[in-house]
Amino acid sequence: MIADKFEVLKRYFGYSAFRSGQEKLVDSLLAGQDVLGIMPTGAGKSLCYQIPAIMMDGITLVISPLISLMKDQVNALVQQGVSAAYLNRSLNEAQYRKALANAVNGKYKIIYVAPERLESGSFLRFAMNAEISMIAVDEAHCVSQWGQDFRPSYLNIDSFISKLDRRPVTGAFTATATKEVKNDIIRLLDLKAPVEVTTGFDRPNLFFSVLRPQNKSAKLLGLIRERNGQSGIVYCSTRKKVEEVCGLLNNSGISATRYHAGLTDEERVKNQDDFVYDRKTVMVATNAFGMGIDKSDVRFVIHYNMPKNIESYYQEAGRAGRDGVDADCILLYAKADVNTCRYFIENIDDNEELSAEQKEFFRKREEERLRQMVFYCTTSACLRGYMLKYFGDRAKDCCGKCSNCLTEFETVDVTVEAQKILSCIIRTGQNYGVKMITDVLRGSSSERITRARLDRQSTFGIMKDLSVAGIKYIIEKLEEQGYIISVGAGMPILRVTEMSYPILRGNASVKIRKARHLRSRAPKTELRAVDPELFDALKAVRTQFAKKKGVPAFVIFSDATLADMCLVMPTTEKEFLSVSGVGANKLEKYGEAFLRVIREYKK
Ligand code: ADP
Ligand code: ZN
Repeated sequence: MIADKFEVLKRYFGYSAFRSGQEKLVDSLLAGQDVLGIMPTGAGKSLCYQIPAIMMDGITLVISPLISLMKDQVNALVQQGVSAAYLNRSLNEAQYRKALANAVNGKYKIIYVAPERLESGSFLRFAMNAEISMIAVDEAHCVSQWGQDFRPSYLNIDSFISKLDRRPVTGAFTATATKEVKNDIIRLLDLKAPVEVTTGFDRPNLFFSVLRPQNKSAKLLGLIRERNGQSGIVYCSTRKKVEEVCGLLNNSGISATRYHAGLTDEERVKNQDDFVYDRKTVMVATNAFGMGIDKSDVRFVIHYNMPKNIESYYQEAGRAGRDGVDADCILLYAKADVNTCRYFIENIDDNEELSAEQKEFFRKREEERLRQMVFYCTTSACLRGYMLKYFGDRAKDCCGKCSNCLTEFETVDVTVEAQKILSCIIRTGQNYGVKMITDVLRGSSSERITRARLDRQSTFGIMKDLSVAGIKYIIEKLEEQGYIISVGAGMPILRVTEMSYPILRGNASVKIRKARHLRSRAPKTELRAVDPELFDALKAVRTQFAKKKGVPAFVIFSDATLADMCLVMPTTEKEFLSVSGVGANKLEKYGEAFLRVIREYKK
C-alpha cells in the first residue's frame, strides 16, 4: 500500500500537482471525514475519490447513474494499473455473476455500481460480507427532486449504507448544486458533517464566442474546416435541424454523425460510439446527447441554435475541453432562435400534473431565463464574466478570452435611422413583422406591399441606401435596448414602446455598439502552439493502441498529455515519466512506442 498521496497521483495518474479543491477532498476522505465536492465538469472530481480508494484498505464503491461513463472510467483505471470493475445492466447474467464472484474474492479495489443494483439480493450479500471502506456518490444531485436529473433509486443509497456493519466514509460529488439540491444531498444521503468544497464555475481553457452570421451553414462549414480533423459537437434545437446539418456536413466531405431522440436505441449507441472512438469527427445532436459522455478531447462545441437558457448552454458548451486543453465554445446566434424558444415556452402545456397557476409561474420563469440567454448573445460585455455572475461567481470585467473581450466596439449614433424605423412601424399600424417593415423602408414593391397599399406610406423607401441586413441589425439593436418589442410567436409583429416617443420627438438619441474588429478564437492555444507534425505522429501511435485495446483514444493518453510530450520531447524513460499524465503503468505499457517516435522526430 502506498502511503503518500502525491506518489499515488504521479504513479497512477501521471500528474505532479493537485488542482484546486482536490487535495482537501482527498485529505478529508483519508481522515474518515464525509465530503461534499461541488466542482464544474472537467475539474477533476473522479481523482478525489479514486486516490483515497487506492490508498485505503478495502473496497470503494462508486455509485453512478451513467452506464456508459462507468465503462470509460473503469477502462481508464485499468489502463492506469488500478483493479476496477463495474456492475450494471450492460453486463449479461454470466458476466455479472463472474464480476461479482471476483469482487467477493477481493479482486477489485474500486467497483462502479448502478444505484438500482444496491437493492439486489446478490449484491447486498456481497456488500455485507466485504470490507467496504468508502462510498463515493457521483452525480449526487440525482438524489434531489429539485434537480433536473432526479433518480428515485438514489433515495435507496442511504438505506443501503445503513445495512452495512460498519459505515464507510462517504463522499458526494456533483457539478450542479443550488442551495436546495445541496441540502437535499446532505439530508438524503445522510452525510455526517461533510467537509464542503465548492470550486468556482470558471473553465479557464474554454474560449467563448458568439457570432451572428448571415448564413449559418456557410459559417459552420468554415468553422469546422478551420478545425480540420478535431473532434467536436454541433448542437441544434430540433431533430429536423440535426438531420439537415448532418447531411450538409456529410455532403461537404466532413465525417459527421447524428444523435437525437427520434433514432432507434441501436443507432444512437452506434453513432455515439463512432464519435467517442473517433471513427466520426463531428457529432450533430439535439440536447438529448451528452449526458454521461466522457470524451475528454472534444475540441469545440458549436451551437447552431441558441439554447433556451444559460444553464443548458453552460452544460452543453462545457462538454468541450474536459482534458484541460484549450477548446472553443461558439454560439451562432440569429434572432429567429428567440422565436423558436418562445414557441417552446408558450407550448409547455403538456404536463397535466401542473395547475394553471403553476404553469403560468413556470412560463414566467422560463421567459426570464430566455431573456438572460438572449442578453448573453447580444451583449458587448465579457461573455465569461456574464455567465460566471449568472451562477453567482465573481468575475473580472474582462477575461481576455472570449469574443467580446477580443472585439473592438465602436459606438455609432443611429438616432436618424431609429426615427425612420420607429415611424414606419407606427404608420403601418404596428401590424407587421421585421420583414415587411424592412421591405417598406427599402421601398421594395412586392405584391404584399402593394396590396396593403404600404407603397403609399410616407416612410416607403426612405432607407433605400441601407442593406436588408443593415436595417435588420438596427431593428434588433432597438429591440435589445427596449425601443421595440416583438409580439406573438411564429411570425411576431413589431410594436414600439413608450421609450420610443422621445426619440421620435427628437428629445433623445440612440447609440449602438458595432463590432469593428473581431477574432473568432483565442490567439494561440496550448495545442496549436506545439509542433503539429510531432503531435500528429504521436496521435497515430495512440490510435493504434486504442484500436488494439478497444478503448477510446483519450483513455490511452489525453490530448493534454500528447501536447506535453511535444513540449518536453523526452528521449529517456525518466524524462518520459515527467510528462503530465504519464504514470508508471503507462510508461511500462506505452513508453517505448512513443519514445521511438520522439527520438525519430528529433533526428
Ligand atoms: P469531472 O468528473 O469533474 O468532470 P474528471 O474527473 O473526468 O472531471 O477529470 C477531467 C480531466 O482532468 C481528466 O482528463 C483528468 O485526468 C484531468 N485531471 C484531473 N485531475 C488533474 C490534475 N490534478 N492535474 C492534471 N489533470 C487532471
Ligand atoms: Zn471575456
